Amino acid sequence: MTNTVNPIIPYIEGDGIGPEIWQATKKVIDAAVSSAYKNEKKFDWLEILAGEKAFNQTGTWLPNETLEAIKKYKVAIKGPLTTPIGEGFRSLNVTLRQELDLYACVRPVRYFEGVPSPLKEPEKTDMTIFRENTEDVYAGIEFSNGSQEVKQLLSFLTDQLSVTKVRFPATSALGIKPISKEGSERLVAAALDYAIEQEKTRVTLVHKGNIMKFTEGGFKKWGYDYIDKHYPQAFTIHHYNQISEESTVEKADEALAEARAAGKIIVDDVIADNFLQQILLYPEKYQVVATTNLNGDYISDALAAQVGGIGISPGANINYKTGHAIFEATHGTAPDIAGKGWANPCSLLLSAVMMLDHLGWFEASQKVTKAIEQALQNNQMTHDFAQMLDIEELSTTEFADYLIASIQNEQ
Ligand code: NAD
Repeated sequence: MTNTVNPIIPYIEGDGIGPEIWQATKKVIDAAVSSAYKNEKKFDWLEILAGEKAFNQTGTWLPNETLEAIKKYKVAIKGPLTTPIGEGFRSLNVTLRQELDLYACVRPVRYFEGVPSPLKEPEKTDMTIFRENTEDVYAGIEFSNGSQEVKQLLSFLTDQLSVTKVRFPATSALGIKPISKEGSERLVAAALDYAIEQEKTRVTLVHKGNIMKFTEGGFKKWGYDYIDKHYPQAFTIHHYNQISEESTVEKADEALAEARAAGKIIVDDVIADNFLQQILLYPEKYQVVATTNLNGDYISDALAAQVGGIGISPGANINYKTGHAIFEATHGTAPDIAGKGWANPCSLLLSAVMMLDHLGWFEASQKVTKAIEQALQNNQMTHDFAQMLDIEELSTTEFADYLIASIQNEQ
């Protein structure tokens, strides 16, 4: 993507409710850009195919041209895609992320006043998750029970590595969980860079290193080591522990107090299961979270539920080194409500807001965020929220039109 004034942005409409939420998103974003920059800047949208639409038109779920377009233009946006069953793909989303090495899945989670939430004080939840996106059990190295691969792997484990702990070897399926130093470091770096840019004061590494010492424990260790070496703006609890071991707890406390006074980012770690209760009990304590792939999957959805669900939670998959990024709705295709005008476009719309921020189009992004805040505060909501509050609902299109009117009225 070379043109910063009139960039070509490839978009994948998506399946199920995809076309409805995409149409709504596109018109709100275009209105905000037009309101912010008049005719000086605008998006040149380029449709690319994936999912059912691609399959129906080209016979393949993920045409090569789609990947090539994202590679060329770098930044793309997409609606949800049906996961094809038995077509040799684990998931189109996972394939896209792996092909483009989009190693950071970024999920900001905040509360919008008016949205129904299961929490008493949902406004206390305001954090951004950096989920590692290319490793862990998502690498897809898994073999079914009874297969030749499992037999080979089991005999290797038993004969070569003296493994005796597979409880039921004859009926076990086996999977492999790769977690690397490089993969952990680049993810943690993304979280730290974001914390510095956004002037946050705390980053938390979430892992399950108490049980998986070398994979999840490695993530924590490599993360801490990398931060200690490369981020003088941060003070890690790992460093705190070193001081207290080498000297005294008082000295470590002093160093921590000094770091706080100097405005350094405090980096600590929490074990994943504990973190799931922490975010319910003390969500206000956490700001930026860096975690491994599977933990990140659970944590992102749990946090989304705290602030109103996946219908309103945006996401982006980014490679900060190459600049490739796909901004996407975090929910699925919602086939149960497709075509009814019930779909909430906020997840895709807020992903587009992340895209505007990523491109530095902050004036436009603020206009969209403000319009969404006002709409929800005024009980202008799509079916999902309206039915919970027992209030009158807006269709997906009406909701988008309400946002556009609000953006235009603010001019
Ligand atoms: P889903 O997210 O599509 O739906 C779960 C529930 O949430 C449904 O009741 C649905 O109506 C509701 N919902 C989801 N998005 C909504 C929105 N924007 N507004 C209002 N309600 C909304 O999950 P699922 O049913 O498990 O999956 C359906 C399909 O989507 C599957 O093929 C799955 O593989 C795919 N999927 C794709 C993605 C993606 O492309 N990123 C993510 C998850 C699932």
